Amino acid sequence: MKKVCIFALMLLAGFSQAQTIVQKDSQIQAMLDQVSDKNIEALVRKLVSFQTRHTLSDTLSTKTGIGAARNWIKLELEKYALASGGRLQVRFDAFTQAPDGRRVTSPTVLKNVLAVLPGTDPMDTRVFIVSGHYDSRASDVMDAKIFAPGANDDASGTAVAMELARVMSTQKFNATLIFVAMVGEEQGLYGATNLAKRAKEEKWNVAGMITNDIVGNSYGIETDLKDNRSVRIFSEGVSPVETTAQAALRGNIGSENDGGARQFARYLKEVGERYVDQLDVKLIFRKDRYLRGGDHTPFSQQGFSAIRITEMNENFTRQHQNVRKENGIEYGDTPDFVDYAYTQKVARMNLSALANLALAPQEPQQVRVLTSELTNKTTLKWQAPQGEKPAGYFVLMRETSNSLWERKFYVNTTEINLNYSKDNYFFGVQSVDAEGHESLVVLPTPGR
Ligand SMILES: [Zn+2]
Repeated sequence: MKKVCIFALMLLAGFSQAQTIVQKDSQIQAMLDQVSDKNIEALVRKLVSFQTRHTLSDTLSTKTGIGAARNWIKLELEKYALASGGRLQVRFDAFTQAPDGRRVTSPTVLKNVLAVLPGTDPMDTRVFIVSGHYDSRASDVMDAKIFAPGANDDASGTAVAMELARVMSTQKFNATLIFVAMVGEEQGLYGATNLAKRAKEEKWNVAGMITNDIVGNSYGIETDLKDNRSVRIFSEGVSPVETTAQAALRGNIGSENDGGARQFARYLKEVGERYVDQLDVKLIFRKDRYLRGGDHTPFSQQGFSAIRITEMNENFTRQHQNVRKENGIEYGDTPDFVDYAYTQKVARMNLSALANLALAPQEPQQVRVLTSELTNKTTLKWQAPQGEKPAGYFVLMRETSNSLWERKFYVNTTEINLNYSKDNYFFGVQSVDAEGHESLVVLPTPGR
């Protein structure tokens, strides 16, 4: 089985661009089959049943408000932890948010809910975070009492993270996965800001962070577009904490379209479309939509590769609105308007890419393009990562004017010589194991 997979992957290098071999791993496929639209719907409806999950809402009631909601999320994740044989570790990430003079009026204890699935390879330090935000709001961002169902924004994303925790925690991965229900997004990205800072301070090796925010609507009202195939991934090209030396290197090699977030986004598209039928992943090369923000941004501000997943067509009569009917239009973010089969596809896209990454060896190290002499060829060299040894490596190539990788070369050495000029193409290298699980792509830096 293993040999057949690699053979198929090796063939890929010799094929023209028009031909594609789709190679699915049975372990990942089995997990995808378990992702259930019925479960996702039940999770969304349960979250809506708390009436409001406003960050400043009641914490004492057992039936309504953010306190009841976060306790229920924790209990639900603990059920999955039990089914995982205790490997999934569930806890609150609690902190006191100081008043900001804007959307938080007094010191408030906020709680993210985390479910951590530790990696099984002690030499593999990678952490992948997948999240949605469980807080909600209505028209007035400060109204902590009014009905604020937040079914699509963002019970849908929270349900994706929870459903992945349920399915993935029964499996073993090299890398660590953290499933998060984030708090305080609507008040100023406070939950994500706190968690990102903590990740930085505690030196977590966050190799990729995903926020699923607004991933359940397939109908855009003004444009009258029904689209249950397309989903957007927002990614920035250049890290906001790039150093002067990194900026100089970027200027020299022209890598403004190849920052960590963008590599991560490309990876999600390639693997997501490999595993999920009838899905078009649209890479949006900017960090977010106009006038809006999301939980990926605090992570990118700490230097992590963080991206946002959002439906293709947003319905603004449903987001951040009091539930009401006005001039025949139904406003409000209620669960009947969520397309659960669509959210299931988004969940499967998340799962396929995260599983493929977490099962893969780590990225190759010290990836260099040799620039010691003038030549019309290219030599790349790198070193094997720590932990699980790759079966081989894919060397990826594309025109500098194109955004997606176009050719793949397979080698089982740590060097390649190509009859293409390094001056005219972008190259990248990724580790791959015998089953075809690929690591993230590393861009070479000039070296000798
Ligand atoms: Zn949101």
